[in-house]
Amino acid sequence: MYIKRKLNKSLSTFRGLRFGTTCRERSSHRYRVTIGIGGNVGDVKRRFEHLFIFFKRDKRVELLETSLILKNPPFGFTNQDDFLNSIIVLKVSMQPLVFLDYLHRVEKKFARKRSFANAPRTLDLDIIFFENRVIKTPRLTIPHESWSKRESVTIPLMDLRR
Ligand code: ADP
Ligand code: MG
Repeated sequence: MYIKRKLNKSLSTFRGLRFGTTCRERSSHRYRVTIGIGGNVGDVKRRFEHLFIFFKRDKRVELLETSLILKNPPFGFTNQDDFLNSIIVLKVSMQPLVFLDYLHRVEKKFARKRSFANAPRTLDLDIIFFENRVIKTPRLTIPHESWSKRESVTIPLMDLRR
């Protein structure tokens, strides 16, 4: 069950039991990481819920916070369904590149297939922030290159820490 709110002609938000809620902190892990999650193929809300449960059960991460879910139009390749995006805050003890590999494995588990840039996807997991680190390597840019230019990131981000 989600509560839907229309922001304007193209944007809507959804708040439910698992998204748009704050979780209690047990804090066994070291680093606070903010990840952006997105998808536009199949039942994305259901996939987000499965991801939530997966993170809750996985001892390698600790789920701290989730934002509401934003429905927004695709960019780049625009002939595809709207995207759903949300932000999840985790604590981890992995280093950034190890964590990136971990996220890629989670994407695979949720049946992500890489085709072309901005293509339709079941689940995209991007690292937005990793503590306050700045990283610029061929495989990883942190903070995420375009986080501040994308409503798909900024609107869910603004919903955190209510
Ligand atoms: P998109 O840019 O649409 O998210 P992909 O998910 O296919 O595309 O990611 C392409 C590559 O971007 C990844 O293989 C990864 O090495 C690189 N990348 C660079 N910075 C980041 C980041 N902050 N979070 C996730 N991936 C990143
Ligand atoms: Mg990605």
